[in-house]
Amino acid sequence: MFIGHFAPALIAATQKKAPSLTLLFIAAQWVDWAFFTFLLFDIEKMNFKPGISVMNPMDLYHLPYTHSLVGCVAFAFGYAALVWLLMRTKAPSSANMAAIIAGGVVVSHWFLDFLVHIPDLTLMGDAPKLGLGLWNYPALAMPLELGIILGALWFYAKVKSPPMQRLWALGIVMLALQLFNWFGPVDTQVTPMTSALGFFAFGIITLFASWVEAKPKTNAP
Ligand SMILES: [Zn+2]
Repeated sequence: MFIGHFAPALIAATQKKAPSLTLLFIAAQWVDWAFFTFLLFDIEKMNFKPGISVMNPMDLYHLPYTHSLVGCVAFAFGYAALVWLLMRTKAPSSANMAAIIAGGVVVSHWFLDFLVHIPDLTLMGDAPKLGLGLWNYPALAMPLELGIILGALWFYAKVKSPPMQRLWALGIVMLALQLFNWFGPVDTQVTPMTSALGFFAFGIITLFASWVEAKPKTNAP
């Protein structure tokens, strides 16, 4: 799952006392930011094996820290603490709730991955390996991913009334990157470029999300 991960972030952002959409977008991919960092240092490992699933050539054979349920929850606590520290001075009455919401969005990552991944996820880093494997069923996985993100964008628009051109821009950027992910050229080797591409995609999307919630500039004195 890729852009579908941002659906819980958009929904969470409509809640009272939620942290910023930017912080929630980072939360949604927090464990993937960590995974691509760990990949650079060989702490977690993958290979490209075209055909390993119908839609995704990634052989994610060693993800014990970021994509075990226990690991993901630990990352969620870490991120929640970070959000709490950031909010503590700015909005003390919201800090606790904001931290809980952000942690929840981090954990949502594992459950969405569970739907699509072939069995490469774990509970605690060891076998059994889990994953319902919708990556083998593009006719289900693609509408699912597009459906949840479109539904979440719609809901966010309805509740928050953001500047619509900006929200459209965010939607189009996400869709473009998702289509590239599905239909673009397939890598064959894991290099630092693999991580760089991940950082780039998450970074661009998060920048657009922060633009959606940025206050429009006014020229008032
Ligand atoms: Zn993931």
